[in-house]
Amino acid sequence: MLTRTTIHADGAWRDALSGETREILDPADGLPFAVVAEGGAEDADAAVAAARAAFDSGAWPGTPVAERAALLRRTAGLLVRDREELALLESRDAGKTLAEGRADVDCVADAFRYFADLVLAEGPGRVVDAGSDTVHSVVVHEPVGVCAMITPWNYPLLQASWKIAPALAAGNTFVVKPSEITPLSTVALIALLAEAGLPSGVANLVTGPGHTVGARLAEHPDVDLVSFTGGLTSGVKVAQAAAPGVKKVALELGGKNPNVVFADACRTAEGFDTAVDQALNAAFIHSGQVCSAGSRLIVEESVRERFVAELSRRAARIRLGRGTEDGVECGPLVSLAQLERTEEYVASALAEGAVLRSGGRRPEPSATRPAGGYFHEPTVLDRCHRRMRVIREEVFGPVLTVETFHTEDEAVALANDTEYGLAGAVWTADAARARRVAGRLRHGTVWINDFHPYLPQAEWGGFGKSGVGRELGPSGLAEYRETKHVYQNLAPRPVRWFSG
Ligand code: NAD
Repeated sequence: MLTRTTIHADGAWRDALSGETREILDPADGLPFAVVAEGGAEDADAAVAAARAAFDSGAWPGTPVAERAALLRRTAGLLVRDREELALLESRDAGKTLAEGRADVDCVADAFRYFADLVLAEGPGRVVDAGSDTVHSVVVHEPVGVCAMITPWNYPLLQASWKIAPALAAGNTFVVKPSEITPLSTVALIALLAEAGLPSGVANLVTGPGHTVGARLAEHPDVDLVSFTGGLTSGVKVAQAAAPGVKKVALELGGKNPNVVFADACRTAEGFDTAVDQALNAAFIHSGQVCSAGSRLIVEESVRERFVAELSRRAARIRLGRGTEDGVECGPLVSLAQLERTEEYVASALAEGAVLRSGGRRPEPSATRPAGGYFHEPTVLDRCHRRMRVIREEVFGPVLTVETFHTEDEAVALANDTEYGLAGAVWTADAARARRVAGRLRHGTVWINDFHPYLPQAEWGGFGKSGVGRELGPSGLAEYRETKHVYQNLAPRPVRWFSG
């Protein structure tokens, strides 16, 4: 059993002030494999105090940009050094396959490098023409202050890094609270930041539950910004807790993401194979526990039967098992709660008239699938319609629903018929149609003839209830900054507005 001291405040590792601990379960067998500190509101207070003192001392915000960028680059190097160990940790904690875990580490290292390059490329500010030779006016960017970061369990290391890298590049200090069920890779990242030379008090970590640690961070008067990634219900609570303090709030919430396939994309054998293959990937990678999962297939009626038949055939062949085993293509769900939630959505869809084409239940245990693991078969539900719960709500499991359309307008209306707006895709061989449809989709990321890729240089975030603000790209850095106008009068004289 791994026993980790997981609270980090002011440069020192310690246990929870209450002495409480939590067992971390391996979702592949449901058995505990690690023990971490179960922090509480008092631990959050101590960590915020450390972050506040480190910020107010001015040491990190005042560190030259080149030194901050160098630290981010050293961290990227350490992530690459520890790639296998981190991928294994993520696999055991979150149920990912090792290949997924490695890909996450690579993306995280890229994000650290990207934000290092971005701040280095910036000039000293934007000079404004004040219309006078005796005025020098410049707009500059400064760190926000103490940032609270609250992250989910599906991409623990990646989501934490999309916040930590830009926050540090901009000169902030922070307290991060990872999901209580998958804290281990964030603990490892904080240790790497210390190894890279980050001064004490700049990076702080509290492991523990959302309703205590998370809620305290969101409302804490000494926190200047709260950046949250997680579900809609918790996101609303975080925004409400932060509101009285008028803190800056960034929210990355859920999605119900359409994958629109026009018949013309399937005209050639190669086009058909690619569209089916990517629809499979869109829906089932990481067992569908992806905020941008393409969980709604919206396919042109004329190709529906052929498309769904092939998709279902391939879904049934996905090799489910413990993420660390060779040959396994898909791991378990992260928890029993997530498995039961998936089963509930499948049952409700079937009760509402959906037709099961593949999967739909827990698989039999096998050599790579222990009996206690939280596995669910990749599931394809045909003949779905917009009034079903499974179409409207985020399942966050391996469930793909199928809806159909006859016209382009109908396809766009279906794809936009969601309260979310995180990501979506359109598949077509007609370039003009691709651009037209992409322009009409109300989603923060639109893929044309692809699904899932993202770039650290390009903003990530959602329309509607998928969130507020953006991560990655220049906007991802701007989240962690205040903007200041400095107006310097080089020849001050009385203004004589008042005569007396
Ligand atoms: P969750 O909302 O249950 O938990 C997320 C985090 O919030 C956890 O650390 C949790 O402890 C904390 N939390 C819970 N209640 C809180 C409260 N009242 N105050 C403060 N913190 C609280 O989400 P989850 O189940 O861990 O993650 C899955 C969700 O995350 C899905 O909805 C998914 O779409 C979303 N997500 C979004 C993105 C994105 O980029 N938009 C990325 C990954 C995940």
